[in-house]
Amino acid sequence: MTTVVVATGNPGKLAELKDYLKELDWTLALKPEEIEVQETGATFIENARLKASEVAIATSSWAIADDSGLCVAALGGAPGVYSSRYGDSDASRINRVLKELGDETDRSAEFVCAIALSKPDGTIVLETQGRCPGSILTAGQGAAGFGYDPIFFVTTRGKTFAQMSDAEKERFSHRGIAFDQLMPALKQLRFEEYESV
Ligand code: IMP
Repeated sequence: MTTVVVATGNPGKLAELKDYLKELDWTLALKPEEIEVQETGATFIENARLKASEVAIATSSWAIADDSGLCVAALGGAPGVYSSRYGDSDASRINRVLKELGDETDRSAEFVCAIALSKPDGTIVLETQGRCPGSILTAGQGAAGFGYDPIFFVTTRGKTFAQMSDAEKERFSHRGIAFDQLMPALKQLRFEEYESV
């Protein structure tokens, strides 16, 4: 069984990834606290690659990273890679998006999740991006989830992320879509084939 380090210091994210990857016989471990990676990429995939590579090199292990956020069309893709830094609380980040959008009629938006898997030498061997299209409401609806969930309305489901059960969000969210896309390749991955290379 191969240990894969998850490039996060957040135990909640480790638990979430364990759930998405439960079909694989991987042991997932949290990144050691002393390894810090600056998210300096201009895109989600750049940040996911950066985190996976740097953590892999620092731990001499396989590493997996994800990076995600909300992109609002009328805001030129903002908050984008700055989603977690758009304010100092979920409420202030939501208020900032609503204020910046004002009474704009184009409320289209998408959540994006990029995932990258790195070999111990820092080479990225697999990557993908999942996208969940939706729109930004004028006020929040629902109480579940986190972050921008209450204002993100998924048209095909007729509800916001914050009105979905955990299972529904896991299936239809950008993160669920990204892991679904990656799963066939992850299942076929033979770590030992890379060890002699
Ligand atoms: P991370 O890269 O997964 O840590 O996400 C970065 C930021 O994007 C989070 O702090 C949230 O503000 C936002 N975000 C990412 N995924 C979601 C989601 O599923 N719902 C709401 N906000 C999210």
